[in-house]
Amino acid sequence: MVSTEYERRIAARFATFDQDGNGWIDREDFNAAAKALLAEFTVTARSDKGQALYAGAEAFWQGMAGIADRDGDQRITREEFVTGAVKRLRDNPERFAEIARPFLHAALAVADPDADGRLTVADTARVLRVLHVPADVAEATAAALDSDADGTITEPDVIPAFARYFTVAE
Ligand code: CA
Ligand code: CA
Repeated sequence: MVSTEYERRIAARFATFDQDGNGWIDREDFNAAAKALLAEFTVTARSDKGQALYAGAEAFWQGMAGIADRDGDQRITREEFVTGAVKRLRDNPERFAEIARPFLHAALAVADPDADGRLTVADTARVLRVLHVPADVAEATAAALDSDADGTITEPDVIPAFARYFTVAE
């Protein structure tokens, strides 16, 4: 089987969503991502930030399921991901940004203890690594997000970049 660059990238995106690596994406993966982020930044699940992150994770899951879970079994298989999610997200990146926004907004708040709306490049890379983005990709992505090179990253930088990453062109 020939693995094209496109297929390799799709596999990497799937793996990012399939946080527990069991071969499908479901609500548990989104809860696991929220839990891992809270642990990484020592924020409790009961705090306002923790609650917002779990609510964002649930909204993200519901949005993804609405797009990709064709047979309604509450699991997105790799095939559903490739045939449903990837194509539809590519056709409509704004929709993806909308689905992901509450989760990303809450994730950035978790990683921003002084609440000034800015994340360091290092903390942004930490968020990506916790979400199972490979370390070298996480570092490079975080650095690239800091387009004006002032060492900080804000939400308006992150959401379109995240949408671009997942709406990979063929
Ligand atoms: Ca999974
Ligand atoms: Ca399904």
